[in-house]
Amino acid sequence: MNKGKICVSVCAATADQLFEQIKRAEDLADVIEIRFDCLKESEFNVLNDKSVSALYQKIPKISKDKVFLSTFRPKDQGGARELTPEERDYFWNGGYEIGWADCEEDYIENSFYWLWEERICSSHDFNGVPENLTEIYERLKASQADTLKIAVRVDDITDSIAVWKLLERAKSENQSIIPIAMGESGKWTRILGLAHGAMMTYASLDATSETAPGQVSAKDLIEVYRAKELNAETDVYGILGSNTGVSMSPYIHNAAFQHHNLNAVFVPLQVQNLDEFMRRMVLPATREIELNFKGFSVTLPHKQAIIKHLDELDETAAKIGAVNTVKIVDGKLYGYNTDAHGFIEPLLNSYGDLKNARVAVFGAGGAARAVVYALRTAGADVTVFARDPSKAESLAGDFQAAAAKLPVVNCELRDFDILVNTTPLGMKGKFDHHTPALAWQLEGLHLVYDLIYIPFQTPLMAEADKAEVPKIGGLAMLIAQAIEQQRIWTGLAAPMKEMSRAVLKRLA
Ligand code: NAP
Repeated sequence: MNKGKICVSVCAATADQLFEQIKRAEDLADVIEIRFDCLKESEFNVLNDKSVSALYQKIPKISKDKVFLSTFRPKDQGGARELTPEERDYFWNGGYEIGWADCEEDYIENSFYWLWEERICSSHDFNGVPENLTEIYERLKASQADTLKIAVRVDDITDSIAVWKLLERAKSENQSIIPIAMGESGKWTRILGLAHGAMMTYASLDATSETAPGQVSAKDLIEVYRAKELNAETDVYGILGSNTGVSMSPYIHNAAFQHHNLNAVFVPLQVQNLDEFMRRMVLPATREIELNFKGFSVTLPHKQAIIKHLDELDETAAKIGAVNTVKIVDGKLYGYNTDAHGFIEPLLNSYGDLKNARVAVFGAGGAARAVVYALRTAGADVTVFARDPSKAESLAGDFQAAAAKLPVVNCELRDFDILVNTTPLGMKGKFDHHTPALAWQLEGLHLVYDLIYIPFQTPLMAEADKAEVPKIGGLAMLIAQAIEQQRIWTGLAAPMKEMSRAVLKRLA
C-alpha cells in the first residue's frame, strides 16, 4: 500500500442530494470533497449565518478515519457558479470545524483559511498547461499551505510530462502535492500519482458524475486500477490509442494482473502524436520521465506507425504489417500481433477446419489485415469486400485473396460459407442501427462472425438469428487476443473467466 488518499468529490444542487452523495461516497473515499459551490443559492446562502449553520448541522457524520474537504470554487476557476469576493470571505471565515480546506491561490491572503485543519492551496487551468507552471508551483509553495494542488488541462499525453515533473520535484523537496493532468490523455496521472508520492487523487462518485475532465470513478480506481496498492516499482502497461475512453482493455488486463497478484497495472494512454510519446516518455535514450513501462496494447491509429520505434518484430506482426502488442524488456521494444490469433481461435473452435472454406471479409482496414492473414494461413479461400475497390484489391493482393465491392445490396452471399464483418457498421455510436447484410442475404451461410463487441449483440448478429445462421460476436476475439497478450507479457496462463467477467460486467 502507498500512503496516498482517494478523494471523492460530491457536487449537488440541493442539500438532500448532497447528503445522499456523501453517504454513498463514504464507502469508497478516504476524503470526501464537498463542492459547496455546486449548491443552489436557495439551499446554501453563504451570506446568511442561519442558512449556513443549518446546512452544516445536517451534514451526515462520517467515520473517524475519513475526513471532509471543503471547496467553494468560483466559476472562472472551474466552479459551478459565480461567487462574489464577499461570499468567498464569508465562506472561508467559518466552517473550519468541518475538516480540510481547498482554497484557490488568489484567495489565500484574503481569508481565514489558515484556521482550517489541513490546507490545500490550488491552481487550476482548464485551457492547457501554462508556460509558467514552475512559477505557479513556487508561488503556491510560498503560501505555506500544507499541500499544493496543481491541475491543468492536457490535450495530448506528453503535455502531462510537465505536471509529472512537478511531482518529482515536490518529492525531492519534501513538499506534499496533488498533481493532476485533466482530460483523457492525463488519466494515467490520476491512476499512477499515488504510487509516485502524490498526497491524494480525485475520483468521481460513479462513472457518470465526474467533476473534472478525465476523472476515474472511485470504484474503478480502487477495484480495477488498485491505485492505493501501486508503488514506484509497479510494472506499467497501457492501451495506446487516440481514443482510449472506450477501451475495454484496462478491465480485461487488470483482472488478469489481479488474479496473479502481480505488481502490475494497465492504464489508458491516450496518444495523438505517437513519435513524441515514444521519444519523451518511452525510449530509454530520450525519455524525460521514468514510468516503468513494460508493454503496450496498441490500437487505432498507431498499429502501423509504432513499428519504426521497435527493436524487433515477430514473424506474424511482420507478415501482417501491424503491431497490436509491445513488450519492453531491458529497454528493448518487441512487437507482436495477437489479433490474428485472437480472431482465428474462436472460429476454429466453432467451425473446425477452415481449409478451402469460402470466406467473405467485409472491410479492408487494420483488423481486416490480421483476419485475412489468419484465414489464408488456415487455408481458407478469402474474398475481401470494401467500399473502396482499390483498398480491397490492395489487401487481397498482399495475401492472395480475391476482391469485391461493398455494399452488397441486392445479392445473396450463397457462394460463401462464412461472413466476417470488420467494418464498424453496427457498432455503438454513429453506426448503431446499421447492418452490412440482411437476413435473406445470409441464408445458406454456415457462420457469421462480427468483430464488433459493443453492443454485445449487433444488428448483423440479429440478422443471422433471423436467418438461423450460427454467429460469433467480437467479444470472443477480444478476450482471445488479450489472453495471448498476457502470455507474451507475463508468461503466465491468463485467467479467461476473470478476464471475461471483467469485460462483461463493464458492458452490462
Ligand atoms: P479501420 O482500420 O478503421 O477499418 C475499418 C474498415 O471498415 C475500413 O475498411 C473502412 O473503409 C470500412 N468502413 C468504415 N465505415 C464504413 C461504412 N460506412 N461502410 C462500409 N465500410 C466502412 O478499423 P479496424 O481497426 O479494422 O476495426 C474495424 C472494426 O473491428 C471496429 O468495429 C473494431 O471495433 C473491430 N475490432 C474488433 C476487435 C476485437 O477484438 N473484437 C479487434 C480489432 C477491431 P474505408 O477505408 O473506406 O474507410
